[in-house]
Amino acid sequence: TLKSRNAIVTGSTSGIGLAIAREFAKDGANVTINGLGDAAAIEAERAKIEADFGVKAAYSPANMTKPEEIRAMVTDAEKAFGSVDILVNNAGIQHVAPIEDFPIDTWNLIIAINLSAAFHAIAAAIPGMKARKWGRIISTASAHSKVASPFKSAYVSAKHGIDGLTKTAALELATFGVTVNCISPGYVWTPLVEKQIPDTMASRHLTREQVINDVLLTAQPTKQFVTVDQVAALAAFLCTDAASQITGSNISIDGGWTAE
Ligand code: NAD
Repeated sequence: TLKSRNAIVTGSTSGIGLAIAREFAKDGANVTINGLGDAAAIEAERAKIEADFGVKAAYSPANMTKPEEIRAMVTDAEKAFGSVDILVNNAGIQHVAPIEDFPIDTWNLIIAINLSAAFHAIAAAIPGMKARKWGRIISTASAHSKVASPFKSAYVSAKHGIDGLTKTAALELATFGVTVNCISPGYVWTPLVEKQIPDTMASRHLTREQVINDVLLTAQPTKQFVTVDQVAALAAFLCTDAASQITGSNISIDGGWTAE
């Protein structure tokens, strides 16, 4: 149980982050959700967490491109809830282009959101976790933290960076009861993925099954998507006492992708 624990999950207004926030709340944690999107929809998700699980849920509008906002998100949550015991760095974006055409601004944005934001949030969370001698820091990396694909230079670089930041923080915090790990999903079934299917069917003249197996799941030997609930369950496990000796790890949940 995560009762009396307080968690922040960045990028949790949709997809994997929202599933993680709801899983933590189900286990009894108070949660701060974060991310972009329609204000009314976000408020509805926040209120639904409180109603469904009987915990406190807050929303931080911190933009993961802004170091001061990220650090304030952590200190504000400490003030509001009394502590930040669990930090999940999950916000992330993607852009696909050859390196020679990759827009400089987009490179900088992806490094900021997918890598530097985790550095700032971890830095702000460390003093409190050290003082209380307990903490769980988890980042959503990707199969692309272990292997590359062409045309995803910024994303692959940022996710490999998360792997390095995770190991470094794990060593710095090893004697303080704070574990630091990252989770590396393969292709996860999210609304974002689902929405790409009709367009890809049309543009490539393929059936739904062909798009799923031959386009989306080419790299995934199981030929099945990971689910957001499976990623959330792994994140919740990393918060248990059973996982107290798992630190500095980059845990794959990718249907065999990185085994090839
Ligand atoms: P998503 O687009 O559903 O969620 C991304 C979240 O990040 C949203 O809440 C969004 O509002 C937030 N976000 C984006 N820019 C932000 C900013 N500047 N400030 C604050 N929040 C911001 O995507 P997802 O698939 O749930 O991805 C979540 C994480 O999982 C990402 O780090 C992604 O790289 C990683 N991941 C996803 C997959 C997949 O197949 N979906 C696979 C491996 C890794």
